Amino acid sequence: MVDYIVVGGGPAGCATAGRLSEDASTSVLLFEQGPRDTNPYIHMPATYFKTAKGNLLTRYRLQPQRHQNMVTPEIVQGRVLGGGSSVNAMVYMRGCPEDYEGWAAMGCDGWGYDDVLPWFKKAEDN
Ligand SMILES: Cc1cc2nc3c(=O)[nH]c(=O)nc-3n(C[C@H](O)[C@H](O)[C@H](O)COP(=O)(O)OP(=O)(O)OC[C@H]3O[C@@H](n4cnc5c(N)ncnc54)[C@H](O)[C@@H]3O)c2cc1C
Repeated sequence: MVDYIVVGGGPAGCATAGRLSEDASTSVLLFEQGPRDTNPYIHMPATYFKTAKGNLLTRYRLQPQRHQNMVTPEIVQGRVLGGGSSVNAMVYMRGCPEDYEGWAAMGCDGWGYDDVLPWFKKAEDN
């Protein structure tokens, strides 16, 4: 018996499972369809091109794109513990401060740029 089951071990699933399991009395089961994140290129900066081949990605073929001359682009998603964050290019994008201020003005308390900036810095390991 577990208290929570989290499906998908990408950033969202790992953060959710991690936060839930901070309470030692809570049991959490995390399901990830891909392998563990033992591939060395996951842990080496700027080598994401090495993980772009092999079995760490799911490759989706899109339907013919009417506004792109009917091409059928391939879209890849991470399929490994850590999800896309295990295979991504480490490009950090904080977004536009004005967007956050706009959401805060619409009533999203805690979503102003000054509110979210410390969390971006924490994620970036500054
Ligand atoms: C090649 C690549 C490069 C990228 N580069 C950057 C970058 O430089 N900077 C940036 O900010 N973002 C980048 N991204 C995007 C970023 O990685 C994603 O936005 C982020 O990982 C999304 O997190 P998520 O938890 O929502 O989903 P995902 O990371 O997609 O995680 C979902 C997880 O769920 C698992 N899963 C799915 N279905 C099931 C199931 N039925 N059972 C069990 N497990 C399941 C998948 O295997 C996967 O591990 C990149 C993504 C890719 C794929």
